[in-house]
Amino acid sequence: MNVLVINAGSSSLKYQLYDMTTENVLAKGRVERIGMESSILSHEVDHQPEVREVSEILDHTTAIKKVLDMLTHRDFGVLRSMHDIQAVGHRVVHGGESFSESVLIDQNVKLEIRKLFDLAPLHNPAHMMGITAVEANLQHVPQAVVFDTAFHQTMPPQSYLYAIPTVLYRKHQIRRYGFHGTSHDYVSKRAAEFLERPLKDLKLITCHIGNGASCAAILHGKSFDTSMGMTPLEGLMMGTRSGDLDPAIVPYTLNKEDLTLNEVNSMLNKHSGLLAISGISSDMREVVEAMQEGNEHAKLAFEMYAYRIRKYIGAYVAAMDGTDAIIFTAGVGENSDVLRKEVCKSLTYLGVHIDEARNAVRSSDTRRITTDESKVSVLVVPTNEELLIARDTYRLVLERQTKETTSE
Ligand code: AMP
Repeated sequence: MNVLVINAGSSSLKYQLYDMTTENVLAKGRVERIGMESSILSHEVDHQPEVREVSEILDHTTAIKKVLDMLTHRDFGVLRSMHDIQAVGHRVVHGGESFSESVLIDQNVKLEIRKLFDLAPLHNPAHMMGITAVEANLQHVPQAVVFDTAFHQTMPPQSYLYAIPTVLYRKHQIRRYGFHGTSHDYVSKRAAEFLERPLKDLKLITCHIGNGASCAAILHGKSFDTSMGMTPLEGLMMGTRSGDLDPAIVPYTLNKEDLTLNEVNSMLNKHSGLLAISGISSDMREVVEAMQEGNEHAKLAFEMYAYRIRKYIGAYVAAMDGTDAIIFTAGVGENSDVLRKEVCKSLTYLGVHIDEARNAVRSSDTRRITTDESKVSVLVVPTNEELLIARDTYRLVLERQTKETTSE
């Protein structure tokens, strides 16, 4: 079965086509600048140079059509016809309390996703455009949705409630949802395989450190707590997001500066974090480079960033009464040995001892970066959210096919 995985944003759309018999990626790519002049489709097939096509792509339906044309292209394609796509899986950021697992799309599911537009105004409407665009192009192909929040629906109320009047939770569902669930789920399973221990016996702390960043406490395979909240703004310091701050700063800033609420919101989401403190960049590579050249602001940004991760690790050790392994993943977590070293430098009380040579290795494989004697293992596990989306989609479609054949 071939499964097409779609991650639709408001003006972009990423795709990966999987052959699920081997779990190989047959092709992948992205469409950028949808709705603008000179939209760009970049398409990649293993061992071949990337193909780039510039054209006018006014909406998501046209974007999907272009992707299908490329996937079936005589020279660059990998499929004979679009009928060779048997299922489509979509990433959806917010599943609210309605979805605790991936589901096949039907009218009710679409209605529920629409109801959640308020909670994720930047993301869910764009995902819905992706879903509608696939429906328009591939009418009879089953589609599934995999939610970033679903994995965290196992959190107990003590983790997900805010200490504010409960009427706000009851009326408006204001609570912690957590994000990057697909990644936390995937890397915790991979870590258990790597450690050769059942997931249900493990206490894991997963650190998804990318442009957005979150930590999760995973107790016996289930999310127990996570650092992102009702929105992806809470928790760790990120590329451009502030992470945790005293909520009183918002009205205070409004009072002191000539700013609107929207501008403060935009400041916290787009002009804070690494970018604000370093004054250089939201990209960890550039911050580290500047730090190594002696830039003091970059050094402070780097240290603050690592310190916040270390504090969350400490909190989750306390929350779970210990931990067996700490896992680093995503762009920064997988690639920055200096950041991992800084985070782990004062976790010796836990029995964490980093092996410098292992930490410095660059690889796309899951690996241990602690010494053999280290009581707690620290692992680097490359995340693969697309593969998990493809697997969930494949499983849901097979389950439905089995149900249909047994009821005939
Ligand atoms: P992600 O959101 O997971 O795609 O991560 C993207 C971020 O990873 C970029 O903004 C960079 O800050 C960071 N990144 C990628 N490669 C490296 C690297 N070699 N060293 C440090 N940070 C990196």
